[in-house]
Formats: sequence, structure tokens, C-alpha cells
Amino acid sequence: MSFSILDFFTIGIGPSSSHTVGPMRAAARFARSLDGKPVERVRCDLFGSLAATGKGHGTHHAILLGLSGAEPESVELDLIPEKLEAIRSGQKLTLPDGRDIKFVEKEDLIYHRGQTLPRHSNAMHFTARDEEDNILSEKIFYSTGGGFIVSDEDWDSSGKNSGESGWLYHFDTAAELLEHCKETGLSIADLVLANETVNCSEARVRARLDAIWLAMQECVERGCRATGVLPGGLHVKRRAGPLLASLEKDYPSNSDAFSQLDWVNLYALAVNEENAAGGRVVTAPTNGAAGIIPAVLHYANRFTTSPHKDPVHRFLLTAGAIALLYKKGASLSGADVGCQGEVGVACSMAAGGLADWLGGTVKQIECAAEIGMEHNLGLTCDPVGGLVQIPCIERNAMGAVKAINAARLALSGDGSHIVSLDKVIKTMRDTGRDMMAKYKETSRGGLAVNVVEC
Ligand code: SF4
Repeated sequence: MSFSILDFFTIGIGPSSSHTVGPMRAAARFARSLDGKPVERVRCDLFGSLAATGKGHGTHHAILLGLSGAEPESVELDLIPEKLEAIRSGQKLTLPDGRDIKFVEKEDLIYHRGQTLPRHSNAMHFTARDEEDNILSEKIFYSTGGGFIVSDEDWDSSGKNSGESGWLYHFDTAAELLEHCKETGLSIADLVLANETVNCSEARVRARLDAIWLAMQECVERGCRATGVLPGGLHVKRRAGPLLASLEKDYPSNSDAFSQLDWVNLYALAVNEENAAGGRVVTAPTNGAAGIIPAVLHYANRFTTSPHKDPVHRFLLTAGAIALLYKKGASLSGADVGCQGEVGVACSMAAGGLADWLGGTVKQIECAAEIGMEHNLGLTCDPVGGLVQIPCIERNAMGAVKAINAARLALSGDGSHIVSLDKVIKTMRDTGRDMMAKYKETSRGGLAVNVVEC
């Protein structure tokens, strides 16, 4: 299967790409591999961050649904409570091939808190047994961030995705990407589009980009309409709806110099409140950081003009290229490198995308992406109560505003700067390695231990 830059923008469900989307995909893949085998019981063991914060992040729901064959892109949100209730009360689940097997959640879904498998913090070990308790099949999957999963046997080759070998312009670093742009005269967006259209028609690539943008807009709309408090027990009030009401009351006569900031905040809050409620969101590049790119795109669309005729497509293609650099050079996972790998990367992607939208040069785009990360270095992951709510929701609003400023700073210069994007990616990776495990999506440090849940 060929790799696409657009895989960084998958339409899935909240609240977490690494703890919900990835586990659902892994469970569904394992369940489908059992077709025709005389399976009696299936068990899933969770390790590392999945065991530590899985319950708050919906991992248990994702595993149950995935073993029943559900996929994040297509699972019907309204039917989820009913399906989970049927599995739990009947103590059985239906495998994708239609067979019912016994499934008792507290016996068959085990959390190994404090234990981590060597390769990655987000690990799942699935086993299937026959009626004599013999193991018929077992598989380990890692959820590596952004909804991506890698099986144990594919781990060593996961960095060398064969689909990329067919690309016209291969790049592992920002320096290589910039060199291609210099040699060909193409922008980053055009270069990525050329790669994408090796395996797919341009019309299909553009249709997929339109679908991503539409899903982002629908998510903002739903988030602005919803009211009440978010699930999980923290009693966090949804703020997007009231904020929209106050902005619409004053708009367009609002003379407040910072009113544009309020709109940016609104878009980010709307998306991340939807995410926290388990709604349909676009992973960009993760669910925890899903509000930044839609917020900056909505801001650009509402308040700015672009010299390009397809600015949304170009924004997403540029942002996707930046995400690939982080995936190759560091990580997109809060469990791996802290929140700098989620909100930091999304900020960097959005800064680069906005610089392109506003007509920036390739060097200015690289500079914007670098600034977007430089001032998120060291950002820890410490979700209160293991929920993707505090600090995550507001952090997206802050990340979106920072991305806009990063683009403006970059566009005020000629693109020359001292810290390159490659250097900041390496620094982010090294900082993540040095970060104590309690700051990497385990809810054992930072705000997660200093804010008392009531
Ligand atoms: S703090 Fe950041 S990395 Fe951690 S769950 Fe929230 S958004 Fe994700």
C-alpha cells in the first residue's frame, strides 16, 4: 500500500489518535486476521501509556469496537453506546466474520500499569485461543501517534515505507525538501502534489483534500452548536457555543483589536471539545492537537486573502510535508516525546501552511515551521484525569495563535534564519528522549498531579 501525506489527516473519532484511533485499527486488524480460525476467546493486554491513561482516552471502548470490526473512519458515532452496552451486558462480541465469542471485559482486557514494552510506550498484545486454551494467534501492535500503527514484525522496516519509493521527490529532511524545491522551482505544495499523483489521479487527491477540509468545517460547526459539560467527570464546560454567541452579537461592529484572536480561539475550542466528547474529528496530526490546523485554516479563510487559487489544498499539502519531517526525524506521539510532539508539531505544520497561504517563499515556509516548534520545545504531556481536556483544549487555542504569529514573523523576513527546521526537529527528539516518563501521557506528572479532581 502506498504512503500518502494525506494520511496525516485521517477522519476518525476522539478523543485520542494514539489511544483511540490507533488501538481501534489494531484491534480490527487482529480480529480480521482470525477469519475462519476456531477462536473461542480473544484477549488484549495494554502496556505503557495505554495502560496508564487508556481509560480516560477511550482505549477500552476502541478495543471492544475494533475487535467487532469497527474502523475509526466509518464507525457510526450514535450507535457506539448501544454496541458497547451489548458487549458488556451479554459478555460476548461479534467478530468481523460474524461469529460470536465470549468476551468478559475485566478478564479479557488487561491494563499492565507501570509496565512498558521495549519498543514503544503505546503497546497492545492480542491473543486468540481455541476451546482447549491453545494460542491460535498472537500479535503485538504499537500505536505510534497520529493513528498510525506498526506490528512487531513490521517494526524494523516501518521507517522505510516502500510506498514512498515510488515518489518523484524523496526527502527525509527539510534540507532535502528545500533542495528539491530549489532544483525544480516547485513550491513545497506542488512538490508534494507531484508525489501524491504518482499513485493517484490529481482529481482524487484534490477530492480527498476537499473532504478533509469539509470534515474540519463540520467539526467546528458541531462544536459551536453543542452545549453542556464534557464527559469524564472533570465537569469541564463547553465554551465554544457561548463564545460564538458573543462574537456574533458584536460582529462585525466589534472594534476590539483582538477580536480576530477570539475567532481563532473559538475554532480551536470547538474542535477540541468535539474531540474530548468522542466526536468525529480530523487527526491533524493527532487528535489531541486536532484543533490547531482547522483553527488557522478558518482564520485564514475568514480574515485573509491568498495569492493562490487553491490555498486550502496548498495549506494542507505543505502542512503534511512538515508532518512527515517530524515523523521521520522525531515523533508525533505525546507518549513518546511529550506534547511538543502533538501541539508543537501541529503548530509547526499550521505555521508553514499559513506562510504558504499568504504567499511565502519556500524559505519563509521552512522558517515559519521552525519558529512554530522552537517555542514549543519541552512542552510536556500531563492530561488531568487522563482525559484529553485540561490542558489539551486550551493548549490548541494557544498553539493556533502561536502558529499565526510564527507565520507573520517568518514573512516579515526573507526566510534566512539561524536555527534550521532540521535542527529544531533533532532538538525536539533529543528533548523528548531526556523527558521523564511521568511527562509523557502517563498522567503521573505536571498538572495531572497538581490539579485535584473533584
Ligand atoms: S497534553 Fe498534549 S500530548 Fe498530552 S493528551 Fe493533551 S494534547 Fe495530547
